[in-house]
Parts: sequence; C-alpha cells; structure tokens
Amino acid sequence: MATIELHHLSFVYGNTPALSDVTLTIADGELHTLLGPSGCGKTTTLRLVAGFLTPSSGDIRIDGKDATALPPERRAMGVVFQNYALFPSMNVLQNVAYGLRMQGIKKRQREKIAQETLELVGLSHLANRNIDELSGGQQQRVAIARALAPSPSVLLLDEPMANLDEELRVSLRAEIRRIQQSVGVTTLFITHDQQEALSLSDTVSIMNEGRVVQTGTPHEIYEHPANDFVAEFTGTMNCIPDSTATDSLLHARPETLRLTSAATPRSLCKVEVSALRYRGFATEYVVSRLAPTPDPTSATAALGSATITTPLESENSPITVLALSNPSYEQFSLGDQVFVELIQ
Ligand code: ADP
Repeated sequence: MATIELHHLSFVYGNTPALSDVTLTIADGELHTLLGPSGCGKTTTLRLVAGFLTPSSGDIRIDGKDATALPPERRAMGVVFQNYALFPSMNVLQNVAYGLRMQGIKKRQREKIAQETLELVGLSHLANRNIDELSGGQQQRVAIARALAPSPSVLLLDEPMANLDEELRVSLRAEIRRIQQSVGVTTLFITHDQQEALSLSDTVSIMNEGRVVQTGTPHEIYEHPANDFVAEFTGTMNCIPDSTATDSLLHARPETLRLTSAATPRSLCKVEVSALRYRGFATEYVVSRLAPTPDPTSATAALGSATITTPLESENSPITVLALSNPSYEQFSLGDQVFVELIQ
C-alpha cells in the first residue's frame, strides 16, 4: 500500500496543455476517483502517476519520497486499461501469472499466486480458458487479477467498465469495490460516469479543463458542490427564485422537492407539468413556473447548505422533481397545475 501525492502537476502534449497545477493526495488504502468529462485530463493524470509520462512541471511523491523521475517498472503499480490489453495467445491463468513471471518468480509459486488471485475475483473455475472464450465482464476481472497478482502498492484503473453494458457495469462496480477493500490496495479509478464515481469511491476529485475543481467524499461532492460545474456534473441541480431575498436563488436536487396539488405554507411556486418520465421506482417531472411563490416563510429555512451564490441558470428554467412511486408522493399528468415545495 502507498500514499501518492501530486504537487502542482502540469503536463503539455506538444502545444496542447492537458493538465494545469493539479495538487491532490491519494491516501493509503483508499479508492480515489478522478471524475470529469472527456478531455479534462483524467487519463493524463493516471499516466503521470504510472510513470508513462513525465510532468512538464510539478512533482509526484510516493510515501513521501520523490518519484517524479522513477520509471514505471520501479513504481510497483498495477494498471487496468480500458480495453484490458489481455494477451490472446495465453490462457486466463497465464495472463494472471504474467507479471509474476516478469518478477522472476518460479513457475509453481506463480501459478499458486495466480490461482489465489483468480479466486479473489471469482474466476478460479476459468483458469484454463482462452481469453476469447470469456465475456466482457470476465475479461475485465482477469485484467484486474493480472494487475493485482504481483501485489502492487497501487492499482490504477482507467475507465475499466467503459466497454460494458449498463447492467453489467452496475454489478461490477460492487465487485471492484469488494476486491479493492479485501486487498486494501491504494486505488486510482478514472471515470466520466458520476453514478459510478459516487457509488464506488472513498474520495472523488472532480476535474474540468485540466484542473481539479473539487475533492471530497461522494457525499460532500453531491451535497455541497463547490461550484456550478460540480453541481451540474454530479446530477441535476434546480435553481428556483427565492421570494424572500432579492436576487437570490435556491438550489435544490430533484429528490429534495415535492409536487402537491394544493398550495401549502411550504410551497415555493406554482408550476405546470410540462414533461414526465416514468422510471418504475419513481417518476421524473419537468415543471415550468407559472407564478411567484405564494408563501414567504419556507424558502429561507430551506436554503441551508444547498445555497450556492452564483446563479446556475435563468429564473425561468424548468424545474425537475423526482416523485417516488409510493403513497407519500402525489402523482400527476401532463398539463396539471401544481405547487412545488422543499421536503424537510
Ligand atoms: P480524459 O482522460 O479526461 O478524457 P485526457 O487526459 O486523455 O483526458 O486528455 C486531456 C487533454 O489532452 C485533451 O485535450 C486531449 O485532447 C489532450 N491529449 C490527450 N492525449 C494526447 C496526445 N497523445 N497528444 C496530444 N494531445 C493529447
């Protein structure tokens, strides 16, 4: 296990700046995710940590020691690439044992370790299979086993589920987390999928345009976004004019709002249902404002930590509300005129 520190790291590809002044710490044993849109610098950061690239400026420390110029083979890191990069001419066991062979470990010992690592990822029964006889999800687990077999101090996962379908990705998220926790290896995970990042990680760093814009626990990132970019990238954030304060907007996630057929003391505004999407466990309503809020008492109290000073959108933006499919939520139809309140 290891602690990784990145200090004021920058990187330029030719004339293209890819990373600017990235400073972050990946704590010993944690699963730290870099989350951000395509092109924001996630893979470049991972390549710098792995030693495949050398920073234009800044430095990298592993367990407090300067590792900026250390070649990849001396960093003891296991890497899982997006396309897995498994060796098609070797079977599953041989793939997993590959790194151990490179370390000069004798055949019997490396087969024992490879078999144990396959057990860890739940694939010991497929040890003799060819790679092309495996499903995408199984190949992904072989790639993880191959990276883990040499007992790396750090595991680097570069969008390892990008090529899998949605259902498989959800089940493999839990599997990756289980494996990572049972080994306790410090892990850097890269994704552009906010659900994946929030459900897997101890810590998430949100990146945008080559910079880290916020680092925190999934809860901190989602509940207390540092700015509009983080708020929007991690989910929908509504922006509702606050009648109790001039030029102030109330920011609220869809699941913190409720639609009611009659006005209540907590109503924020009157709206019309302009679209709805039934999702089984809930219905997502998109509503448009009709009139200013009838009630002045609730909005200030409801602001709390959801307040962000900069407006996200115009006052007339549609509002998204999530109504769970249970009797405590009223359900509505297109064109209904209803009221929005904050759930407290
Ligand atoms: P992400 O992983 O978040 O999609 P990358 O780290 O791959 O982002 O890329 C960051 C920036 O660097 C982007 O603008 C991308 O176009 C650029 N870039 C990445 N790889 C190269 C390369 N080999 N040559 C030139 N520019 C590159």
